[in-house]
Amino acid sequence: MKIELIDICKKYGRQKVLKSVSMEFGEGVYGLLGKNGAGKTTLIGILLGIIKADSGQIFIDGKPVGSQSREFLNKIGYLPQYPQFYKEMQVYEFLCYMAALKGIPKKETKSRVEWLIEEVNLADAKKKKVGALSGGMRQRLGIAQAMLNEPELLILDEPTAGLDPQERIRFRNLISKFARNRTVILVTHIVSDVEYIANRVIIMDEGCIACEGSLEELENSITGKVWEITRNKEQTMDDLDFSNVSNLKREGTDTRVRVVSDTLPAKDAITTRVGLEDVFLYYCKGDGK
Ligand code: ADP
Repeated sequence: MKIELIDICKKYGRQKVLKSVSMEFGEGVYGLLGKNGAGKTTLIGILLGIIKADSGQIFIDGKPVGSQSREFLNKIGYLPQYPQFYKEMQVYEFLCYMAALKGIPKKETKSRVEWLIEEVNLADAKKKKVGALSGGMRQRLGIAQAMLNEPELLILDEPTAGLDPQERIRFRNLISKFARNRTVILVTHIVSDVEYIANRVIIMDEGCIACEGSLEELENSITGKVWEITRNKEQTMDDLDFSNVSNLKREGTDTRVRVVSDTLPAKDAITTRVGLEDVFLYYCKGDGK
C-alpha cells in the first residue's frame, strides 16, 4: 500500500497545528517522532478520517481517499493514544467482540484471537476482566485488537506507554515480524521505540517535518555535531550551554556531558558517535509551544 499525504494544513482557532505537511508511506516500519504537541496525532486523525483537514489531499495507491474511504478503513488497524475498552468483558471475549465488529469471519476468529493472545503474552489473563488488567496488559490488549484484521496499515500511537523493558522487546519483535509486506506507523516521542525497528524515521516539530530518512541517513546528517566533554570535580561547567546537552552522566568523580552543537561547544570537546536522541534534539530545538 502506498499512502501519500500532500500539503495537509490544519488550524485550531489561530494555532496552525499542521503547516502544509507532505509525507509518503510504503512498506516497512515508520517512526513518526516528535515532541508532545508537534501535530502527530492530528495528522494521523486526518489520515484516518477522524479529523477534517483545512486543506490538502490524501492518496491511497494513487487514488484520492474520499472515493474509497470504507475500503481503506477496512485495511487499517489502529491503536489510539488513549484506547477505550469495555471493562466488564473478559480479554478473550473482548477480542472476539472486536473481531465481529471488524467483520472477521466467525470461523477465523478463534484461531486469530488465540494466536494474538499468545503473541502479546496475555494467555494467562484470557479470562480476566479488562477492567482488572494492569496498564501494561491493557496496552498489549490494545495492540492485539489493532492487529486483529491483519491490517495492511497498522498505526500505533504511543504503543509502548506503560510497557516494562521485557514487554517492549516482545513488542518490537512482534512488530518486526508483522511488518513484512505491510506498513506500520509508530507514533511516539520515545526515541528508543523507533531506534530499533523503524526503517524510516520522520521527525515532526511544531506542525512541520523537521527531517526524514533512514536511521543511518539521519545520523549521518549530523555527523561531527555531537560532542563529549569530560570534566572532573575541580573543573567548572560554567562555559557550557545546557540547552544543547543531550546527556549528562557522572562517572566516579568525573562528569561526562554530551552536547549537540554545530560549533565546538568547549575547548576540550571531542566529537562522538551520533544516536537518534541526538538527531531528535538537533532538529527539535523549539520549546514545543
Ligand atoms: P502530538 O500528537 O504531536 O502530541 P497533537 O496533534 O495532539 O500533537 O496536537 C498538536 C497541537 O494541536 C497541540 O498544541 C494541541 O494542543 C492542539 N490540539 C490538538 N487537538 C486540539 C483540539 N481538538 N482543539 C484545539 N487544539 C488542539
